[in-house]
Amino acid sequence: MRKSLLAAIGLGLLAGVFAPAPVQAQSDFKVTLLGTASPSPRPTRFGPSTLIEAGDQKFIIDAGRGVPIRLWQLKVPMGKIDVLFITHYHSDHVSGIPDLWLTGWLSPPFGQRKTPFHVIGPTGAKSLMENLEKAYAADIKIRIADEKLPAEGAAVKVEEFDKDGVVYEKNGVKVIAFTNHHGDLIHPSVGYRIEYKGHAAVISGDTTYNENVIKYGTGADLLIHEVGMARPKLMKIPAVQRIIAHHTPPEEAGKVFAQAKPKLAAYTHIVFLSNAQIPERTLEDLVAETRKTYSGPLEVGEDLTAFEIGDTVTVQRFKK
Ligand SMILES: [Zn+2]
Ligand SMILES: [Zn+2]
Repeated sequence: MRKSLLAAIGLGLLAGVFAPAPVQAQSDFKVTLLGTASPSPRPTRFGPSTLIEAGDQKFIIDAGRGVPIRLWQLKVPMGKIDVLFITHYHSDHVSGIPDLWLTGWLSPPFGQRKTPFHVIGPTGAKSLMENLEKAYAADIKIRIADEKLPAEGAAVKVEEFDKDGVVYEKNGVKVIAFTNHHGDLIHPSVGYRIEYKGHAAVISGDTTYNENVIKYGTGADLLIHEVGMARPKLMKIPAVQRIIAHHTPPEEAGKVFAQAKPKLAAYTHIVFLSNAQIPERTLEDLVAETRKTYSGPLEVGEDLTAFEIGDTVTVQRFKK
């Protein structure tokens, strides 16, 4: 019986009948959007921030509004973040830093960081963190004396860079920073390419259409791009024009995707402007405009949308 079954399997394999179905090994490279908005306050979309998990390391790219809440939903302790990478110094990308840094130091299970808070960013990171240390000096002093928290956990380790290239390399993870173009007066501003086990995830940062995003995004498994749009009537307002000019319209983001050809393209940092009279554009508009220039795989990110990167890129929407 056993012999004939084996023979049958052997024949089946020869015939291709019993060829095993491809099993997707569980990936240990995962990207989760923590916040997908721009500065506009929204209950469903928090400030820009992305969590990267690669092997036993966890990174955050930008810390906008609400990062600790999103991490709590994922059951990822704030104290377990290895490095915070900053793309640029607009407040919506850094306003969550004190919360992540200091709440991550507290003694409950969501915190417990006992080593310095590690920050890597373009020129300006040192000044930002030094000034935050001054701003929160009283809290740090009080909690060390009162709660007996370890001083080392409130310390800050900052690395600054001023050119494109590898800014972090450890345990098989390589992080490469590249200059993008967010606006003539917005310097520095970068995107990041994260490489792990032959795969890559790329985050555009805040940028207009930019060749560097195509260059570093080419061959990526996942290319996450920012995007901005407003109704033509609203675009007559100079302040709206100035904001939209700092971002990438969906048709142009589509051109970036079409050239970089990632396995999956995704949107985050969705800039939708409106006023009391003129409503914002819709997510359907966003997709329709993108489809004028790009026909490949596309996901419009929501807060806590997760991408697992392995042989393929799989998408998981957050279930409460
Ligand atoms: Zn922004
Ligand atoms: Zn910005």
